[in-house]
Amino acid sequence: MPTKTIIEPFRIKSVEPIRWTTRREREQLLEAAHYNLFLLPADDVLIDLLTDSGTGAMSTHQWAAVMEGDESYAGSRSFDRFKNSVQEIFGYKHVIPTHQGRAAERILFGVTCKKGEVVPNNTHFDTTRANVEFVGAEAVDLVIEEGHHPSLQHPFKGNMDVAALESLIARVGRERIPLVMLTVTNNSGGGQPVSMENVRAVSAVCKRHGIPLYFDACRFAENAWFIKLREKGYENKTPKEIAQEMFRYGDGCTMSAKKDGMANIGGFLCTNDDMLAQQEKDLLILTEGYPTYGGLAGRDLEAIAVGVQEALEEDYLRYRIASTAYLGNHIASHGVPIVQPPGGHAIYLDARAFLPHIPPDQFPGVALAAELYLEGGIRSVEIGTLMFAHGAQMDLVRLAIPRRVYTQSHIDYVVEVILEVWKNRERIPGLRLTYEAPFLRHFTAHLEPMNVGAATRS
Ligand SMILES: *Cc1c(COP(=O)(O)O)cnc(C)c1O
Repeated sequence: MPTKTIIEPFRIKSVEPIRWTTRREREQLLEAAHYNLFLLPADDVLIDLLTDSGTGAMSTHQWAAVMEGDESYAGSRSFDRFKNSVQEIFGYKHVIPTHQGRAAERILFGVTCKKGEVVPNNTHFDTTRANVEFVGAEAVDLVIEEGHHPSLQHPFKGNMDVAALESLIARVGRERIPLVMLTVTNNSGGGQPVSMENVRAVSAVCKRHGIPLYFDACRFAENAWFIKLREKGYENKTPKEIAQEMFRYGDGCTMSAKKDGMANIGGFLCTNDDMLAQQEKDLLILTEGYPTYGGLAGRDLEAIAVGVQEALEEDYLRYRIASTAYLGNHIASHGVPIVQPPGGHAIYLDARAFLPHIPPDQFPGVALAAELYLEGGIRSVEIGTLMFAHGAQMDLVRLAIPRRVYTQSHIDYVVEVILEVWKNRERIPGLRLTYEAPFLRHFTAHLEPMNVGAATRS
């Protein structure tokens, strides 16, 4: 690691203005949005840390590639470039483009999975869980014990509990498990990486039982970087070599190109299974598009072809992981409870520890996210009781860092806002639900403060 400040490894060629609002305006905007930050107009947000999904800045190389997009319906040159670039890293035989990650999930589970079956994962992401449950199967999370304790330090907190996987297979039977999934990095579990040793162990269990192993690969490049930093034997390998080795232990993957694809839209589904690929392409044609574009424009395929390669560049990954840790370490050094150690793409505030006076059924994560907006115009997202209706294990607030978008002074401002909210935390009220949809309710839910007087203080 260099000893000088780790700087943004880019300079800025095009700027996008952002806009301040007053506290009074934000109080009105929040009420109009029913205390759900998904329902806010983005123009009324100063620093948007809602998600790192599709919110990154593309490079000059990506914008140049966009102009090379071949918009032919079938057999487009852009598809070949996309497929070759993806295959060089992921190594799977079939690459099926989709409009984003959840479309890949829906097709994978729609084809492989049915009612009464069970899908193990280290931790299912919200859309992954919803797609498993939509076909009537059960989504089981098997992250290691350390993964359930936010303040505990562990280099690979995203690992799957291999013994728990073995006993699940013994209990429900191999025939009821169509596939095992590993999410790298483990998003809902705090952006925590999975070690190569764990991938190897899970792969060995799957092979022994003849169960396919799929990766939820959305943040594969960040996971590779953590393996390089933290796992013995990988310090001299490139992130690409590490990613290539990891994918060799599996049979396929789902991917959102809006994350480590460094694009604003897109995704893909990979498999080595010829028969499965045929069924997946049939379903793709029905709902996404022809298999050489899968719901994307040729220019999107070009941006992804360049983006997956850029995500593995060492200068980029060093800056990416260092800037996320910078935010986490700053607030943690003032006592703010966060998921330790800082993850790859985001810092997770532990809302139950931050707001011990608010019980989980009054949504401490949503309450904290609302207060960060009121205090400084920052948008974050709850990952907890609102998102996972049935028995969330933690209530977290995720501050996701868009790729190559904000500078260190933006992050310094975020630190100041969080510390101000931390100082006044006893005054933050819990919330109650006034409307919910039957699934993925956090996107559209309406809430109101338990104690309206406390919430509208100025
Ligand atoms: C974002 C994400 C998805 C879903 O991808 P979309 O492109 O948002 O549909 C699935 N799994 C993980 C781990 C993710 O981070």
